[in-house]
Amino acid sequence: MDVPMLSSYPADKIVAACSKCGLRKQFDKVAMLKAGGDRPLGLLLDDIAIRANCPKRKDTPDIYNKCGILYPELVDLLPARRR
Ligand SMILES: [Zn+2]
Repeated sequence: MDVPMLSSYPADKIVAACSKCGLRKQFDKVAMLKAGGDRPLGLLLDDIAIRANCPKRKDTPDIYNKCGILYPELVDLLPARRR
């Protein structure tokens, strides 16, 4: 299985946003790699939510009301999938 890594993010600026709590943050990819090394993008997202103190982040006991944090620009950046 191919886990998308921070280093493979297809842009220099990484935007993470949560539609539920309104969080929106932009990160510098190179700075993040320097600060924490390469990590799976999914793991990084959890980290961002926790650091941003999203009220619905991963460890909330309410599993139906989890944080909706994602990389809103990632879908547009990836090559279009063939249908
Ligand atoms: Zn959130």
